[in-house]
Amino acid sequence: MINVLYVILSFFVIILLTIYLIHDIIDIISYIKNKKLKKSSSSHEDDKSSIYDESFSITKEEMNNVEEWEKKHKKKCKPKYTGAISVSQFKIYFLTTSIGVGAYCRCEYCGKEHAIRDLDE
Ligand SMILES: [Zn+2]
Repeated sequence: MINVLYVILSFFVIILLTIYLIHDIIDIISYIKNKKLKKSSSSHEDDKSSIYDESFSITKEEMNNVEEWEKKHKKKCKPKYTGAISVSQFKIYFLTTSIGVGAYCRCEYCGKEHAIRDLDE
């Protein structure tokens, strides 16, 4: 009886390990695919007319501005556990309107927003 239980238990352990292994392999494959995509998209930077749209990116100056705001905001707004890979509590999003594209940074924890590129200005 103990032998049968031992066989069943080891069977489940083997299945769990296999699932883990498959999951890891899928992760590795997607990582390699993403790397290839990044390589191919970097070649599009030379050809800005086809795919690349400047209005959906932010300048280094704007990024520095955002990082400064994030640093200040983090002192007031402590995030909860964001996972092992520590996903940022901030999201940058673009708002398309008829007069242009605005860029904003939002704290996902408290909902406070900071205009990176406001259309009112
Ligand atoms: Zn916040």
